[in-house]
Amino acid sequence: MSDTPTIASLVGRADSIYRDYSLTTVREWKARTGGLAMGFMPIYIPCEILDAQGVLPVGLMGARDDLEIIKGDAYYQSYICHIPRSTIELGLSGRLDCLDGVLFPAICDVIRNLSGMWQMLFPTKLVRYLDVPQNFEPAIGGRFYRHELEELAEALTSRGARPYDAEALRGSIARYNALRREVRALYALRQRLPWKVPTSELYVLLRAAVVLPVDDATRMLSEYHGLALADESRLPLDQARVMLTGSFCEQPPLGLIRTLERSGCYIVDDDFVQVHRWIQSDIPLDGDPMEQLVLAFLGDAMASPTRYIDKAEKGADLVLRIQRSGAEGVLFASPSFCDPALLDQPMAVRAVERHGIPWTAFKYSENTGQFQVIREQAGTFADSIKLWSVA
Ligand code: SF4
Repeated sequence: MSDTPTIASLVGRADSIYRDYSLTTVREWKARTGGLAMGFMPIYIPCEILDAQGVLPVGLMGARDDLEIIKGDAYYQSYICHIPRSTIELGLSGRLDCLDGVLFPAICDVIRNLSGMWQMLFPTKLVRYLDVPQNFEPAIGGRFYRHELEELAEALTSRGARPYDAEALRGSIARYNALRREVRALYALRQRLPWKVPTSELYVLLRAAVVLPVDDATRMLSEYHGLALADESRLPLDQARVMLTGSFCEQPPLGLIRTLERSGCYIVDDDFVQVHRWIQSDIPLDGDPMEQLVLAFLGDAMASPTRYIDKAEKGADLVLRIQRSGAEGVLFASPSFCDPALLDQPMAVRAVERHGIPWTAFKYSENTGQFQVIREQAGTFADSIKLWSVA
């Protein structure tokens, strides 16, 4: 990359990282540092723990529409989402060989099942199912989660990572706070001036950010932010402002996002690549850093269909996000057969309807290749908002 980046060069580099199934940047990082690299599945893992022990966290988000699934399909029934098939395919084809292991956060039965398969298929690698609490009392769920994190730190050490050190963790929290701030700032800029931050660009930047070392990711996002803000060549269009929800795990193909934008929608909030937005504000740097990570997970995480909310109203958080982002309508866009997203959807629909917010829904797969039907649906939705909405 040249010394003076441009929007095109930053997005181009992010796009090539996003398209690189062989994780070249991870291989280069390992050759340079001699460190371990651990893959992780959506939605969230505490990357700080890995970073503090000199381990590179590498987000695994499935594939796109250009990976032929030959073996992966044999492991799953037809009524299961696509991401576990492509992840198996990537693993069995050797593309993930540079990873020293994979973390599987507890978000659904499919991921749990995938962690078991991984253990059998790759017995020499570290495989951890990261169980997360569904009780958010520090004395109960917090104690449980802390134990999980301590065991994770020990498992990394047993594989050759640096032993856990509280001061190193504090430093890593500070670095990830900086990354989260950049992500939040970009989301805020897109919300305010969506024509300056096309979601198709933001998306590839976020996909690259989960593979890059934290400081590199922060720098990339910060440079893009400065350039996008200063660019006067992008002018506002008469598009409908929409919130896109349901796509927190298996990610849509980039072509689908471009299609939505071309159909007349400005996406002003979404559920894409949530790992660096999961914790919503800076994690305090004082006190015991491991405890601060735990408390942030318990008390400052995004609402998600994968988190138990007890007596709170399903969809209330979605309504709040719609109001905050100034979205005029909602696109419920979930991966086919995604139980957490699709089981929550009727309750979320009820919540937005109670507030008179227009919505439409469709499903996708990470390998969806035909967008014409979605383009017509989203275009009609955007037109109806512009013509008739009183929201
Ligand atoms: S897409 Fe949905 S069902 Fe599939 S692994 Fe992710 S959360 Fe689970």
